[in-house]
Amino acid sequence: MLTVLLASRNTGKLREFAELMPDVHLIPWPQEAPELPETGAFFQDNALQKAEGARAWWESHGTEPVDGVLADDSGLCVDALWGGPGVLSARFAPDLDSYRDKNRRLLAMVPEGADRHARFVCVLAFAPHKGESFTVSGAVEGRLAFELRGGGGFGYDPIFVPEGFGQTFGELPADVKHTLSHRARACAALRARLAAERP
Ligand code: IMP
Repeated sequence: MLTVLLASRNTGKLREFAELMPDVHLIPWPQEAPELPETGAFFQDNALQKAEGARAWWESHGTEPVDGVLADDSGLCVDALWGGPGVLSARFAPDLDSYRDKNRRLLAMVPEGADRHARFVCVLAFAPHKGESFTVSGAVEGRLAFELRGGGGFGYDPIFVPEGFGQTFGELPADVKHTLSHRARACAALRARLAAERP
């Protein structure tokens, strides 16, 4: 079984990775470990920065050997907001505590009658124990709902309706989200890449 350190404390992401990769032993980023900086302009930059930063820290502080370190940089890109909040999704509306309020603010920023097309994007960086890091990505197209719907998922799930569905990710069961989400697609690409490298 592959043992992978997950460079994230986001509980929504942790839950999804555990569900998407039940055959991988995932170690969550320890509470005592430092915050991982993400100062890049692109999802790829941030994912690599987090994976390689976590690998360097684990080399001197790790409690067990790992096959590699996985980092996820993801976000919601809204056409009417010129692709925002995008790479800044985790830092959108820092004055608001809850995602309920952040989602309401985001919806209020979209002008009436504007194109509501949006997509979730996920870039995964994998830093192997030894060797070169790489990234894979996944995206899911959809549109913004007109109000928050559903209590499932996390983050912006209650305002995102994936293409071909009438319900938001907050309303759809997790196993449906996992058949089409940006993270599920990036995980599938990661699996394919790892299988090709470790037949
Ligand atoms: P980061 O990758 O840590 O910079 O943060 C990504 C942010 O994008 C999360 O904190 C969420 O707000 C949002 N996000 C990413 N993926 C999802 C998802 O699957 N559902 C809802 N929100 C998401």
